[in-house]
Amino acid sequence: MHSRTFKNKTVAVFGLGNSGLSTAKCLLEGGAKVIAWDDNDDRRNAAQKLGASVTMFTEAVMKEAVALVLSPGVPLTHPEPHPVVEMAIAAGVSIIGDVEIFLKERRGGRVVGITGTNGKSTTTALIHHMFAHAGRSVAMGGNIGTPVMDLPELSDDGIYVLELSSYQLDLTPSWQADAAVLLNITPDHLDRHGDMAGYAAVKKKVFQHQQDGSFAVLNADDALCTQIARDIASEAEAQQILISTKQRLSNGVSVLNGLLEDASSPNHIWQTDISDIETLRGQHNWQNAAAAVAVCRAMGLSDHEIASGLNSFGGLAHRMEFITEKDGVKYINDSKATNADAAEKSLSAYDNIHWIVGGRGKAGGIAPLAPLFERVTHAYLIGEDASNFALTLEGQVPYTVCGTLDKAVADASAAATSNAPATVLLAPAAASFDQFPSFEARGDRFRELVLGEGA
Ligand code: ADP
Repeated sequence: MHSRTFKNKTVAVFGLGNSGLSTAKCLLEGGAKVIAWDDNDDRRNAAQKLGASVTMFTEAVMKEAVALVLSPGVPLTHPEPHPVVEMAIAAGVSIIGDVEIFLKERRGGRVVGITGTNGKSTTTALIHHMFAHAGRSVAMGGNIGTPVMDLPELSDDGIYVLELSSYQLDLTPSWQADAAVLLNITPDHLDRHGDMAGYAAVKKKVFQHQQDGSFAVLNADDALCTQIARDIASEAEAQQILISTKQRLSNGVSVLNGLLEDASSPNHIWQTDISDIETLRGQHNWQNAAAAVAVCRAMGLSDHEIASGLNSFGGLAHRMEFITEKDGVKYINDSKATNADAAEKSLSAYDNIHWIVGGRGKAGGIAPLAPLFERVTHAYLIGEDASNFALTLEGQVPYTVCGTLDKAVADASAAATSNAPATVLLAPAAASFDQFPSFEARGDRFRELVLGEGA
């Protein structure tokens, strides 16, 4: 995608991660002059190679620009505006993100936007999968995987499925979706949004400017979402579709005990059992599935296409990822569970668990998980906080301090095999950085060890 609207104009790009570099490239290819900066040398060099003028930003430099494209990682308002934001405000330059440019440049295609505190990537990937599986022309990007400016041009019957963080919404004043999803709002990133009211106000923007014929999908089980549903009912033209995993809805999509009921189209109630779909285990995933079904139904998929899409979803790596089942033992990689809140989801979804846990612990450690300890047969502790975690388990769950993931997998696998059917679950409830570069590297190592590729 080339950016044509900024031809012969100067645009400042601050923050040269994947999306910053991709934006700089599209702007340059479209004939804009790009001035760019990042604190990292390699990133600056990469921008220079593309043809950007790399220069430290000052107010004078900023005055040359018509817009500042900010990386979503740079604070716009809280805890305090980054100096570059203040410079742009002082110079009267509009502050935007790459999604804003994408919306201006795209020639065709409908847009689905997904936001929420948790479940964004899973829901985005599931919606993308359902359209792709049904043979529709579809592209996925944004906060997940591909930067938006690297997405292909789609024709009018194509669909862009975009995951949006609240930071990206903040930087997209023209955001307007054909279908928008707000999954849930729980305290997170409050450092960047001030308070819950500020955070909810940003999330609400996913529904801004929606027109007649578009769809707004909201979670009926979440108090802030239902408040927003009431607000937008009077402000926006979109048709609302509610989702729930707690109550049957007469005009939305619900999932109760794994039975999904889609009553979003009048006169057509459709049910399908998703309780056995391994990649959609757990009530949180039922919420994601309900949202995905609401969108896909609204945008024209049939019963058969929806059922087939749900059943063939491969799931996302490191999020309750099913690795294999051998000798009656399931191996599950939930390396993305870097805190107790996330680990709670996978501990709730399995029984007779041989739990690999630990790393660099977060405040509160694993104490909040105590109500789920009865599901754990044995814990295998790894990482720098193993002894703290052991204190919490003492007298409640038998445990072994293994130290490394390699030893934990070997021990857990041996014990679970002699105690099958069982589940070996990597749900660390801790960050990975004491032993691995990232949660992905930790999960990849687990997969290798389980599949016998990394011995
Ligand atoms: P995000 O993209 O919003 O970070 P993901 O889809 O990557 O969300 O899921 C990350 C983790 O969040 C999962 O491993 C799971 O523990 C939890 N999660 C997923 N979906 C939900 C949901 N709908 N509600 C609450 N927690 C969820």
